[in-house]
Amino acid sequence: MYAFNYHKPGSVSEAASLLSGSEDAKLLAGGHTYIPTLKQRLAQPSDVVDLSAIAELKGIREENGGITVGAMTTHAEVAHSDVVKRVIPALADLAEGIGDPQVRNRGTIGGSIANNDPAADYPGAVLGLGATVRTNKREIAADDFFVAMFETALEEDEIITAVHFPAPEKAAYVKFPNPASRYSVVGAFVARTSAGPRVAITGAGGTAFRHQGAEQALASNWSPDAVAGITTDPNDLNSDIHASADYRAHLVAVMTKRAVAKAG
Ligand SMILES: Cc1cc2nc3c(=O)[nH]c(=O)nc-3n(C[C@H](O)[C@H](O)[C@H](O)COP(=O)(O)OP(=O)(O)OC[C@H]3O[C@@H](n4cnc5c(N)ncnc54)[C@H](O)[C@@H]3O)c2cc1C
Repeated sequence: MYAFNYHKPGSVSEAASLLSGSEDAKLLAGGHTYIPTLKQRLAQPSDVVDLSAIAELKGIREENGGITVGAMTTHAEVAHSDVVKRVIPALADLAEGIGDPQVRNRGTIGGSIANNDPAADYPGAVLGLGATVRTNKREIAADDFFVAMFETALEEDEIITAVHFPAPEKAAYVKFPNPASRYSVVGAFVARTSAGPRVAITGAGGTAFRHQGAEQALASNWSPDAVAGITTDPNDLNSDIHASADYRAHLVAVMTKRAVAKAG
């Protein structure tokens, strides 16, 4: 690890001033991704701004018929929240399937979506539910947030404060997990919303993406059979030690069909 200045601000505005006032400051949430990055000397920030003492970034509340989750809320808190289980059970279910208990007790929703690992689960719910990412500067629609592998619409000195999820009529997430990490080899988040069906695929491409073919099929017939025959161009998908692009393309249809069956 290279040396850096460590800060632990007590408010978002203090964190924002530290970010903009430092040469190359980076945010720290649960540290699940960023601490190993530092330990391997893959990053050399001048300053690290730890968000863990900022109370306004934590917690879950019901808002405008949906759920708002503070950026520093852990996966375990979402998984065990009675409000989330009641209003958007698919979101609690997704959080419960992330990693293992250690990961769920340290990892945060803000860190997960800011990092935008292609195999992460939360981008599926954010895109699949048409959520809004709130930052200290603006609100970003889910469809505009995830740009590319490990890349989002966030500016260098922007802090995610919360994510607002509108409640769907029904929704479910199913993934084919990597047996070691539980990261998604391919996952499908399906939601029936008042504006029509939304289908978000995780793990398969460079970033989570909406599957237009699946959404069109579900718009006319919300049933598992409607999506059994959807196709995905493997040229757009990842090929790595875990799965080939062709296998991932096959899994997209299988996971989507299972997710629709699970949503009911
Ligand atoms: C063994 C293991 C297994 C895992 N399995 C899964 C899995 O099955 N599914 C899954 O989805 N994930 C999985 N993860 C990822 C994990 O859930 C964390 O969400 C992820 O590692 C990010 O960690 P963190 O929240 O502690 O953020 P950090 O590591 O602290 O930060 C990650 C990045 O986000 C930035 N950041 C953090 N907070 C903010 C903010 N509020 N605003 C702007 N930028 C911010 C940081 O600067 C950093 O660049 C796994 C991780 C590990 C180590």
